[in-house]
Amino acid sequence: MAGLNPSAHERVIIVGAGPVGLVAALRLARANIPVIVLEAADLPHAEPRASTFHPPTVDLLDELGLGERLVALGRPARTWQYCMFETGDRAVFDLSVLAKDTNHPYRLQCEQLNLVIEAGKMLEAEQPGALVHKADVTKVSQSETGVAIDVDIDGEKTRLEGLWLIGADGASSVVRKDLGLAFDGETYPTTSISIGTPFPFEKQIDGLCGVNYFWADGWSFSMFQTKNMWRVGYSPPIDMDDETAVSDQEVQSRLSRILPGAGPFEIVTARLYSVHRRLVERMRVGRILLAGDAAHLNSPSGGFGMNGGVHDAFNLTDKLIRVWNGEDNSLLDLYARQRHFAASADIQKTSDANHKRHREKDTGKRMAALKEMQDIIADEAKAYKFLRESSLMDSLERANAIA
Ligand SMILES: Cc1cc2nc3c(=O)[nH]c(=O)nc-3n(C[C@H](O)[C@H](O)[C@H](O)COP(=O)(O)OP(=O)(O)OC[C@H]3O[C@@H](n4cnc5c(N)ncnc54)[C@H](O)[C@@H]3O)c2cc1C
Repeated sequence: MAGLNPSAHERVIIVGAGPVGLVAALRLARANIPVIVLEAADLPHAEPRASTFHPPTVDLLDELGLGERLVALGRPARTWQYCMFETGDRAVFDLSVLAKDTNHPYRLQCEQLNLVIEAGKMLEAEQPGALVHKADVTKVSQSETGVAIDVDIDGEKTRLEGLWLIGADGASSVVRKDLGLAFDGETYPTTSISIGTPFPFEKQIDGLCGVNYFWADGWSFSMFQTKNMWRVGYSPPIDMDDETAVSDQEVQSRLSRILPGAGPFEIVTARLYSVHRRLVERMRVGRILLAGDAAHLNSPSGGFGMNGGVHDAFNLTDKLIRVWNGEDNSLLDLYARQRHFAASADIQKTSDANHKRHREKDTGKRMAALKEMQDIIADEAKAYKFLRESSLMDSLERANAIA
């Protein structure tokens, strides 16, 4: 296996084959840089996670030939809305206003698993053997001239060396922990649940968009439509134990509150997850770079985690390719500054505001937020600005402009 050759020192080691690690690997491979991607799991993770790809992210993925593949596997949502469930009062945003700025003026609703599978296939075609599954990285180290990792590959311990290392190993990153970096922030008090069902809600509820945030009597929920599935999300009561929260009885009863009398609903997944807001102190330590969830976590409200991570991967590989080809490695400090800024100044603040707004219980505050959104929609210039912000277009440009 070419990728595992222990004497192949001239390469970039990537820990983690999630969306971020694989996009980074594919970009480096396309620039003829040898890579090895080590992934602890034996197969791509199938649990439902990201489903929203924002317009600038699909534009970037187009460069790799991935954009159109994902569009074919997903469902473009040109509109998204906030809605008072009981009264039907709503604010509907139309992403068509971004058509002059993007080739994809919609939120692409597509499971992140599709990106992982497609990018993995492309990497395999580009550099056979570069993606190694069942490879659990246990330790990272570095010197002035290179990096090394200890990895357990299918039960066999080995040590691999390289010139640079990208830690794209997600929320519990071993790379980040080994570097001893602080990962300050908070875990939100309530958990959330994501339910996948093929039930055709669109045939029975008028006015659904591809992406919907509902304020209902006593609770809030979201409904996202991917190619063949509805993803319904909400926070179970804080005092409900996890087992009850994901039980069929509880899930059926929740969905029945959305569409009384229509059940039983076919439930494909019901997954409970904690929501965090955390940011690593630095995204570069010498020859080791952090990207994606390994560096920053935010509430999924608004769909920024994977998108921001893919933006990290593009920014980082732009610079790493130049460094590989002879430019000064201080360029990588610029990566760290730019993407740390994007996470702290934009992504974390906006996702936190989204998280709190969607969970607002006070009717007066909900009405005020709805009115504010309706006023934005009524003013074309304001709607354009709002949608550029909420689809991370401005965040990407602001970060890239940092010197
Ligand atoms: C319910 C839910 C909905 C979400 N919705 C959205 C959304 O709509 N839009 C959005 O942008 N984001 C969303 N997110 C966030 C998004 O899923 C993450 O931000 C994204 O997965 C981060 O990608 P990553 O590649 O950085 O990390 P991960 O996807 O976590 O990948 C890390 C990989 O590293 C591997 N790994 C870990 N440790 C090791 C090790 N020691 N050795 C080798 N491999 C290792 C893991 O097995 C994993 O495959 C959502 C999250 C959740 C939970």
